[in-house]
Amino acid sequence: MHKKLFIPGPIDVELDVLEQMTKPMIGHRSKDASDLQMRVSEKLQKVFYTKEQILLSTSSGTGLMEGAIRSCTRKRAAVFSVGAFGDRWYKMAVSNNIAADKFAVEPGEAITPEMVDEALATGKYDLITLTHNETSTGVMNPIYEISEVMKKYPKVVWCLDTVSSMGGVMVEVDKLGVDICITSTQKCLGMPPGMAIASMSQKAVEAAKQVEHRGVYFDLLELYQYIQKKEYQYPSTPAISIMYAMDYQLDKILEEGLNSRFERHLEMAQHVRAWAKEKFDIFPNEKYMSNTVTTIKNTRDINVSQLNKELAKRGYAISNGYGDLKEKTFRIAHMGDYNLDDVKGLLDNIDDILGL
Ligand SMILES: *Cc1c(COP(=O)(O)O)cnc(C)c1O
Repeated sequence: MHKKLFIPGPIDVELDVLEQMTKPMIGHRSKDASDLQMRVSEKLQKVFYTKEQILLSTSSGTGLMEGAIRSCTRKRAAVFSVGAFGDRWYKMAVSNNIAADKFAVEPGEAITPEMVDEALATGKYDLITLTHNETSTGVMNPIYEISEVMKKYPKVVWCLDTVSSMGGVMVEVDKLGVDICITSTQKCLGMPPGMAIASMSQKAVEAAKQVEHRGVYFDLLELYQYIQKKEYQYPSTPAISIMYAMDYQLDKILEEGLNSRFERHLEMAQHVRAWAKEKFDIFPNEKYMSNTVTTIKNTRDINVSQLNKELAKRGYAISNGYGDLKEKTFRIAHMGDYNLDDVKGLLDNIDDILGL
C-alpha cells in the first residue's frame, strides 16, 4: 500500500513528476543534455535566489557536503553543529584529513551569531560549515542574523547545508553571502532522491584553486570549470532521468510561486506545532523551530515504533527520533507538496490511534 510520507526525506513525489522519469535516454554529451542541464540550473538559480553557477551532482547531498569541505578548506574549518547532520560535516573533515574544530550546542539549541563571531575572531579559520535546518532536532539556525557576522569576515568561505530546507523556506543565497549552498532533490523540492545541488561563489572557486588535493568525483572546482567549458555538461554520466523530473517539478514550483510555497510550509508547521503543544511538547527551543520538520517530545511515553506500525495500516508514515533521541522524541516532516489537509489527515489518525 502507498503510504503518505511524513518523514524528512525521501518525500512523496507526485505522479506526474515521477512519470517524467520514463522518458527515453539521451546521450550525456549531446546538445539536448546541455539544454536540459542549463534549464534545470537556471530554474534552480531562482529557487536559491542566486546568480552564481549551480552545480548538479549525481549523488545525495552528503556527496557535495564532503566535496565542499574538502575542496575549499585551505587552513582550517570551523564546523558549527547542532546535531547529527552538523556532526556529519565534522566526520567528513576528519576522514579527509582536513584540519577542523567542532563547535556544538546542546540538542535542541541553535548556533548564535555570537558563537560564530567568537570563533572567527581567532583568525584560525578560512571556512565554516553550518546546517540551516537540523533534521534530527528540528532546529532552524538563524542564518540571517549569522550572515551579519559573516560580513565581518569576507575571506571566510561559508558552506551551508540546506538539504532539508531549500524549497520550503526562503534562503536568499546571494543576499546572505553563502558561498556554497547545498541541497538534495528528495526533501522540500518534492523530487525523487538521487541528485544533489549546490551553488558555488567566485570566492569558493578561488579558495578551491589553492587546495591541492580535492579528490576526483566531488572536486567542486572540476565540476565548476567543466560546466563553464562544456556548456553545462558534467565530467561523468549524470542521472538523466532525475533531471527530467527536476526540469518538470521546478516549473511546478515556480508556478506555485516561491512565497506561496514557503507560506504553505509554514502553515503546515504551525498546525503541527499547535497540535504537538496541546498533546505532547515541542523538543527544540521554540525560538528556533523548523518550518519543515517538527521534533516532538514524547511526554506521554508512547511507543513510537508501535504508533508507526498502526499508522502504516492506515497509509501513513512518520519518523522516530534520530539516534539518541529515538523514542524520546518523534518527528513529523511537513515538506514537499503536501498541504494543510494532508497534515490534518495524519494528525486525526494519530489522535484516533492513541485515543487523544
Ligand atoms: C537528509 C539530510 C542530509 C543528507 O542528505 P542526503 O541527500 O541523504 O545525503 C544532510 N543534511 C540534512 C540537514 C538533512 O536533512
